[in-house]
Amino acid sequence: MKRRFGPDGVHLFDRSTGLNMLIDEVRIPRHQWSAAPRQVSIALTNTCDLACSYCYAPKHRAQLSTPQLCHWMDELDGAGCLGVGFGGGEPTLYGRLADVCAHAAERTQLAVTLTTHGHRWDAELIARLRGAVHFVRVSVDGVGATYERLRRRSFETLRERLELIGSSFAFGLNCVVNADTVDDLTAVAELAAWHGAAELLLLPESPTVRTTGITARVAAQMEEWVLAYPGPVRLAISEGWTAGLTVAIPLPREAGTRSYAHVDATGTVRPSSYSTAGQAIGADGILAALERLAAQESA
Ligand code: SF4
Repeated sequence: MKRRFGPDGVHLFDRSTGLNMLIDEVRIPRHQWSAAPRQVSIALTNTCDLACSYCYAPKHRAQLSTPQLCHWMDELDGAGCLGVGFGGGEPTLYGRLADVCAHAAERTQLAVTLTTHGHRWDAELIARLRGAVHFVRVSVDGVGATYERLRRRSFETLRERLELIGSSFAFGLNCVVNADTVDDLTAVAELAAWHGAAELLLLPESPTVRTTGITARVAAQMEEWVLAYPGPVRLAISEGWTAGLTVAIPLPREAGTRSYAHVDATGTVRPSSYSTAGQAIGADGILAALERLAAQESA
């Protein structure tokens, strides 16, 4: 298991099973805390072949250099990061996706998660990624006509892709929650259970330049649904969203960029994918950029 040291104790993590153990009886001196965030999301490319109205991915063309990215993963791994989440844009449109996943699997102890719309997955892609990806998150906002209106792709085809992905990878569904999708939550949870998804991640819509974000009324409806949901699929919600819900926070002292950071497709590290604050990753590497970001955040 990989070990990580932080303000909450010693964190052990097994990427092949997803098992986490926290030994919180141990007090770790500050100078021994792991320097890297626990998780880092990485937008490999801004390119996407869908055009969802609530998309927050920047629309200018950009993608990361593979050698640079592999170097950053080595740095993060050595400094105690537990996992990277590749997204975009659509990560399956990144030409060397299989290479970067293989690098993470073979040269590091990082867990690799992919967030995808799912429509480009076929037997060939699965064969190239098998063994190098530990968890797949498929974006499914609503079912049937709701899904097809929002994503402009066939819902039946999506179900075929879920079957294919689920045959080779542990996976979960991501659902943006807004006025268009909140009434479909029960059906999305049933879809997740039917296809054997391990988790349903709720993403209350964040405001962007094009959208206002989730309203208070829809948020209350979502919270009511969560409280009444009997299972069987595990529910999760965007980090930071706690209003009205009791959520498990297993590492309460590990906050901010000590917990999570995002690298956008231009190679800028940010506190989150929505944040305008950021530091370009230069020749001195990603840990140096994270240090500058932490100083910027506390200034
Ligand atoms: S699939 Fe994702 S990246 Fe592509 S347009 Fe939709 S929300 Fe944006």
